[in-house]
Amino acid sequence: MKAIAIQPGAGQPHWVDRTQPTITAANQVLLRVLRVGICGTDREEILGGRSKAPDGQKELVIGHEMLGRVEKVGDQVTRAKPGDLAVFTVRRVCGECLPCAMNRPDMCLTGKYQERGIWGMDGYQTEYVVDQEQYLVRLAPELADIGVLAEPMSVAEKAIDEAGRIQAGRLPQASAAPDWWFGRPCLVAGLGPIGLLAALALRVRGAAVYGLDIVPEASARPQWLLAIGGQYINGQEIPPDKIASLRRSMDVIIEAAGIASLSFNLLDALGANGVMVLTGLPDGDRPIELNGAALVRGLVLGNQAIAGSVNAARDHFQLGVDDMLSAELRWPGHVAKLITHRYAAQDFATGFSQHPDDEIKAVIEWAR
Ligand SMILES: [Zn+2]
Ligand SMILES: [Zn+2]
Repeated sequence: MKAIAIQPGAGQPHWVDRTQPTITAANQVLLRVLRVGICGTDREEILGGRSKAPDGQKELVIGHEMLGRVEKVGDQVTRAKPGDLAVFTVRRVCGECLPCAMNRPDMCLTGKYQERGIWGMDGYQTEYVVDQEQYLVRLAPELADIGVLAEPMSVAEKAIDEAGRIQAGRLPQASAAPDWWFGRPCLVAGLGPIGLLAALALRVRGAAVYGLDIVPEASARPQWLLAIGGQYINGQEIPPDKIASLRRSMDVIIEAAGIASLSFNLLDALGANGVMVLTGLPDGDRPIELNGAALVRGLVLGNQAIAGSVNAARDHFQLGVDDMLSAELRWPGHVAKLITHRYAAQDFATGFSQHPDDEIKAVIEWAR
């Protein structure tokens, strides 16, 4: 079967031939790949960034944001049956640490995890994939159009879950209120796919969502946010240190811009007892200047917390597909507008190399 691969560290994506995988254990599921999203991680891999081929191989099949249809299941599989829509998660357990033993490779302690399409395991830009049921999430048929967003959605869900758990953990009264998020001022910084999906998950919970970016309000991403009841803050007009006075101080900030200086400046917008979760990965090593004493004073006097969040557990995928279903009921057809570009598999080179201004999410179509 056909697959799209790179040679880690060098070079453009190209076709490779792979043997079609089959079920070899009772806990496995075989998926026909329907479509696979392209994101910054793929484009960095192509530019020579972090990636690793499977042991003993020169090339890595890329792609980690997938949607598939179940073709066949092993005898012990109970969560899915042939014909179901489903996705596989990205990270695989190291087999050594406690989080991995709990199927939380997103919190792996040893760093010996693998990631499909990124680190040591072939990914999903191909026709068929097999994996274990513990990495599978089944999707309702209503999610056929948008299920390919489950992976970036899971990253947003983990960040929100961390913020909620930190607050519930240190203020246990909060955990008694299932509507803790309702009406809470939450800032999402960086309105790429993960930022917009974080805004969606927060709106589903009833939060008062503010989205920060630097594009004109009339452009597609701010308009998408406004349509789900969010408010837009143009960073060109309102810098981070003015957000609290001109809008509100925030209970939660989800950072999805990957700009180190912005992350620290955003603390000016964070209210007392607030928590900020960082999901963006800044590149480069350019030092930034900070008023360290003021920053520490603010954290201490404000009971503020900063957490980093990477990848996602199976449960976050499940939260994500549940929230997408709620969103579909509330704003029918709106989530699908995030998928702005679709490329046939044979046109993958265009999909990976082009990154037009109006792109939010591009996907490669493998099958209908
Ligand atoms: Zn991605
Ligand atoms: Zn581990």
